[in-house]
Amino acid sequence: MAPQRQVGYLWDTLYGWVDSGSGGFTPADPSVGLQPISHHIAHADTKRRFHEAVQVSALADVLVPLRATPAQAEDLLRVHTAEHVEHIRSQSENAKGGDAGDGASPFGRGGYEIARRSSGGAIEAVRAVVEGEVDTAYALINPPGHHAERARGMGFCLFNNVSVAAAYARDVLGVSRIAVVDWDVHHGNGTQDIWWDDPSVLTISLHQDRCFPPDSGFREDNGAGAGTGAALNVPLPPGSGNAVYELAMRDVVLPALEAFQPELILVASGFDASAMDPLARQMVTQRGFKTLTRLLLDAADSLCGGKVVVIQEGGYSPYYVPVCGLGVLEVLTGVETGFGDPYSPVLDPQGVDDLYDHQRLEVAKAQELVTNVPTP
Ligand SMILES: [Zn+2]
Repeated sequence: MAPQRQVGYLWDTLYGWVDSGSGGFTPADPSVGLQPISHHIAHADTKRRFHEAVQVSALADVLVPLRATPAQAEDLLRVHTAEHVEHIRSQSENAKGGDAGDGASPFGRGGYEIARRSSGGAIEAVRAVVEGEVDTAYALINPPGHHAERARGMGFCLFNNVSVAAAYARDVLGVSRIAVVDWDVHHGNGTQDIWWDDPSVLTISLHQDRCFPPDSGFREDNGAGAGTGAALNVPLPPGSGNAVYELAMRDVVLPALEAFQPELILVASGFDASAMDPLARQMVTQRGFKTLTRLLLDAADSLCGGKVVVIQEGGYSPYYVPVCGLGVLEVLTGVETGFGDPYSPVLDPQGVDDLYDHQRLEVAKAQELVTNVPTP
């Protein structure tokens, strides 16, 4: 089957070598009974399994391989402080590595180089789409980025890859209006922090209310100064599934994009809103992620010549992240793998498509923010 679009795809072997240590979530510590474990919850194998599932599917024949190079210092410094970049660089020289900033985001020796390569992968995917080499792209990068603020890393994120790529698109490629749609289940606090008072980048975050960070991502946080209205938060109640996310996309995200008129859409794509994720309590299945992708792709077609770049963020179920990822790639390419969703017999009867009044109400409240979005 020929693909409907040329879709760039980017992975690097080193993304699978991110060393997140032997703690489970926070570092192992016998004094509080925390045992070491072979797999930190953000272990790179989850993303490597996604990549390998792509390789054994029909997608491998149609995706256009893109190659990452490390982001340069000037690329990182567009969105991060020099102190933060130096912190990651110096921690990375330690024999046993260091931490991105919050004590729960360990990385091994040489992690700075892999993090630069992750940001560089996001840049390359954006460059290939903006310059028309491919129609859209999926950058399956690691470590993730959306929690990394201007001056500190956190939540397994060292550098804010999506923001590094957005700043590159703006300052080097001349793209003046960029939208970031973040469907990772956690709040995209770092991306919001970086573009807080900047109207050239619209940040929209769909996330589980107060999941992580627990003190950010409120609807009232809406940007400041010239960027007032350009930070959109859509906190969703725990237990939200496919229908809730689709409603939020239709009622909030798409109208906001329509108002903002972006020239480029970046998706901060986490798969931790899935019904099998250990770090959140949402109910989205592969079908839901496919619907979100379809809706965004259609919006991009009408708004910005289909220019969408999907950039990997979180997702912690080694079982289900590959299934959700394949679904997104199927929609981007228009090519079916024929694998389907092997977990749907277990997940579908659990109410993954339900939509309750309290969920509808939260989406309706977020919808009121669309009128604040800056227009061209
Ligand atoms: Zn996440």
